[in-house]
Amino acid sequence: MTLEEIVTAVQRVLGIHIDGKAGPETWSAIYKAVVIPTLTGSQAPPEMTDVDTRSEKNILTLQEEVRPLARALVHKAAAAGIGIKIISGLRTYEEQDALYAQGRSAPGKTVTNAKGGYSNHNFGIAFDIGVFEGNKYMEESPKYKAVGVLGMDLGLEWGGNWKTIVDEPHFQLRPAWAGGLKEKEMLALLRQRVADGTPVYA
Ligand SMILES: [Zn+2]
Repeated sequence: MTLEEIVTAVQRVLGIHIDGKAGPETWSAIYKAVVIPTLTGSQAPPEMTDVDTRSEKNILTLQEEVRPLARALVHKAAAAGIGIKIISGLRTYEEQDALYAQGRSAPGKTVTNAKGGYSNHNFGIAFDIGVFEGNKYMEESPKYKAVGVLGMDLGLEWGGNWKTIVDEPHFQLRPAWAGGLKEKEMLALLRQRVADGTPVYA
């Protein structure tokens, strides 16, 4: 069965518009039908560390509070038959500046609109995933949407929901104090915390 056939079958059962392309409603149904029964009764402990070494290396750059969620996402995706790795975690301000220069003062294509201190990646609260089929990295795949649903279920924010720049590989854990804040306001307070030496999630 191809992915499109699975999606079509699920949409038929749900009685929603059948187009073989899964939106959040279909993915959420797939998740409830396929993943939750698999996890029930065998909820893995939050401290599980048996993810691949590349993911683990990136996970260890993240804030402590984010690490178990990143690991859980790798496991949940695997339980749903989707291979993912955490391919990016913390970026220092300097690394962010270098990325910002790309496509501007440095060669390459533009990859970010954020200078150092203006990306959630600069604070260890955000990570990016890659979908893999075997050893092959898939830059684009409908599976990113499925993983987005799994991540939101863990309480993560998913870049696929962003209105301005849709960023399906991106996940972040918003600090409780930033609950009602706009992204820009949260980033300003995060920079303040780094400058003051205040922990991000305190
Ligand atoms: Zn990202």
